[in-house]
Amino acid sequence: GGNKQKQSSILLKVILLGDGGVGKSCLMNRFIQNRFDTTLFHTIGVEFLNKEVNYQDQGYTIQIWDTAGQERFKSLRTPFYRGSDICVLTFSLDDPASLNNLSTWQQEFLYYADVAKSEDFPFVVLGNKVDIDESQRKVSYEEAKRWCESNKMPYFETSAKDGTNVEEAFVKGVELWRENDLRFDGRVGVPGQSGAGNGGRSRTIIVDSTNSRGEQQKSAC
Ligand code: GDP
Repeated sequence: GGNKQKQSSILLKVILLGDGGVGKSCLMNRFIQNRFDTTLFHTIGVEFLNKEVNYQDQGYTIQIWDTAGQERFKSLRTPFYRGSDICVLTFSLDDPASLNNLSTWQQEFLYYADVAKSEDFPFVVLGNKVDIDESQRKVSYEEAKRWCESNKMPYFETSAKDGTNVEEAFVKGVELWRENDLRFDGRVGVPGQSGAGNGGRSRTIIVDSTNSRGEQQKSAC
């Protein structure tokens, strides 16, 4: 209760893409709820969850869309790409194929998201499961970093299991989004106005946000 003052918050739609099994659901669960269970589960359908973060004195409602479980069903996942503000490309450090597939995920995203300026779109790359033993690791930091640099994307080695770099990676996405927004129109925070930075869409400013699924959230991971 109490009289906590509500501040306006900028809604950012974040989409999490990558091969099945790289840890997308667990990353989402870690970021939103700060927990990790090992219960195996697969998301049925696409769903999203919200979390508030602050960046440079501005509140953001990060709305993460999890397409896990839809890796095989392109027609089910791609309609959700449209309107995304940030794309998080995820691979697993024990699975080199999942790194090789990032280009395909990126291309599919850009094709269906219909973003205004694809060369400036905020992508963040996560090499997940950094907690694994050195013997299980199949992708070196240098190799992943090389791919990210050639695609001009920031790289984070994360662990949904112990939380390493998870918050940092999502906040980096907000930072990139913010830089773009300032570069294009700088009118963020003005309700009802839009500019080139978001492809002419109106920016959604919300005052009170709760998770889309409330108590019905599955205990993922
Ligand atoms: P998704 O298909 O991309 O959503 O992947 P999941 O989130 O379902 O995770 C796939 C498997 O990887 C599960 O068995 C998780 O317990 C495991 N996993 C996910 N993240 C991590 C991590 O950071 N470290 C480790 N060691 N295992 C993880």
